[in-house]
Amino acid sequence: MACYDAVLLWFRRDLRLDDHAALHHALRSSGRVYPVFVFDRDILERLPAQDRRVDFIHRCVASLKADLEALGSSLVVLHDRARTAIPRLAGELGAQAVFFNHDEDPAAVARDAAVTGALQQRGRAVHDYKDVVIFERDEIQTQAGRPYGVFTPYLDAWRKKLASAGLAAYPVAPYADRLARLAPASMPTLAELGFAPADLALSAGESGARALFDDFMQRIDRYRATRDYPALKGVSYLSAHLRFGTLSVRRLAAAALARGTSGAQAWLAELAWRDFYHQVLWHRPDLAAGRAYQRAFDALPWPNPPGYLQAWCEARTGYPLVDAAMRQLNQTGYMHNRLRMVTASFLTKDLLVDWRLGEKYFAARLLDYDLAANNGGWQWAASTGCVAQPWFRIFNPVMQSQRFDPQGHFIRRYLPELAPLPDAALHAPWTLPYARQQALGVVLGRDYPAPIVDHAAMRQRALALFRAAAGGQG
Ligand SMILES: Cc1cc2nc3c(=O)[nH]c(=O)nc-3n(C[C@H](O)[C@H](O)[C@H](O)COP(=O)(O)OP(=O)(O)OC[C@H]3O[C@@H](n4cnc5c(N)ncnc54)[C@H](O)[C@@H]3O)c2cc1C
Repeated sequence: MACYDAVLLWFRRDLRLDDHAALHHALRSSGRVYPVFVFDRDILERLPAQDRRVDFIHRCVASLKADLEALGSSLVVLHDRARTAIPRLAGELGAQAVFFNHDEDPAAVARDAAVTGALQQRGRAVHDYKDVVIFERDEIQTQAGRPYGVFTPYLDAWRKKLASAGLAAYPVAPYADRLARLAPASMPTLAELGFAPADLALSAGESGARALFDDFMQRIDRYRATRDYPALKGVSYLSAHLRFGTLSVRRLAAAALARGTSGAQAWLAELAWRDFYHQVLWHRPDLAAGRAYQRAFDALPWPNPPGYLQAWCEARTGYPLVDAAMRQLNQTGYMHNRLRMVTASFLTKDLLVDWRLGEKYFAARLLDYDLAANNGGWQWAASTGCVAQPWFRIFNPVMQSQRFDPQGHFIRRYLPELAPLPDAALHAPWTLPYARQQALGVVLGRDYPAPIVDHAAMRQRALALFRAAAGGQG
């Protein structure tokens, strides 16, 4: 059924060979498929040399290339501008069409439109597919034909659609003989790309993703009970792999469905959150430009007190759970979901710093940074989003700490300087009398910062700020 002699398969955030929509379709419709990946200068030039994501992607690309070489093909790896490099390469290789999977990031949408235009001008076809999420764009709508802005009814509709439509499968192996026979090629080194090696705890590539997934499947039944406790190994830690597509989200959903336990159902709902935020971004690309989802909060006059953002970034707020979480982010490029909620709430409601500044910091540090999920999470915490924490309900950072890290295992892991404190004082060390601090060898202001703000007082200021923006309601 092939209708092309030769085509390009452009890998982007789908760095795998298993269950790959665009690759499956490319192989089925062409006699020869050239796989290509571009380290895009338009993206890389905006990143600092220490950005650890580039090392992670570099390792994933190397692993993909090795997997393709094991099949007698290879991966063309360019360090160039995708906008011009893809149309040029299609011409050089005589490819009649280019296949790729959707990416809803507005910058990627604009890039893809430019590439598509350039290819079509030269008489080449473009085929693009849904792959990154399970349901995208307008696939799930309200009865009035509008996108959902509230998660719970979206989840109901998502589950129903999954039950009726099922999960598509896009096998690659049966058609692998249509991959272009290529001699093993070299690829730019990390240093040639201008980046420094990172100390990554996460194994890269499809094999790294599969190992993590297999490990999580042993624990998935306990997910509902353990997912909120950062000291426990309760979550999957698959987010960076999902971000770069080293495993198929359809395979994950199928495994969770087959498992069927309460824990597996709870985890499936997290994959629906992911879809949800992606469709929100698709319908509201202005979110990428810093707009609040709720227009009433767009111009909220955030006080941004001097020094507060810096203290938060550098884990110097004096609130142990917040500081431990920020150290986890700074040291590993990952932060547990409960802690993302706590630290984002703390920055916006306790420090009164504009959520966009926190969003930007997470974007620079998270290995799993995803515009749709990050923006959704930040706007949830800042109470400006579609699904949002109501602005009058403000997390108490000490109570969050007592509830979700009761013995302080997580805090002690990232703030060893607080290890001598008794559990009860670990969540709010300022409650210890000075003499006791001295006796324990943890003096506030010397060994660990005194709290940067008083939660009760800042809570009142946050409420006043939001009440004014909301027109006095609430
Ligand atoms: C302020 C804030 C910022 C966030 N930024 C990001 C981000 O940049 N990238 C990112 O992938 N997630 C983000 N999240 C969502 C969530 O915190 C992470 O997906 C999760 O912590 C990743 O760990 P995990 O893979 O072990 O998750 P698990 O609990 O095992 O969940 C499985 C997968 O579901 C998806 N998922 C889970 N929760 C959410 C959610 N609330 N929204 C969207 N997808 C979700 C992720 O792909 C995750 O890998 C953010 C949340 C908040 C509150």
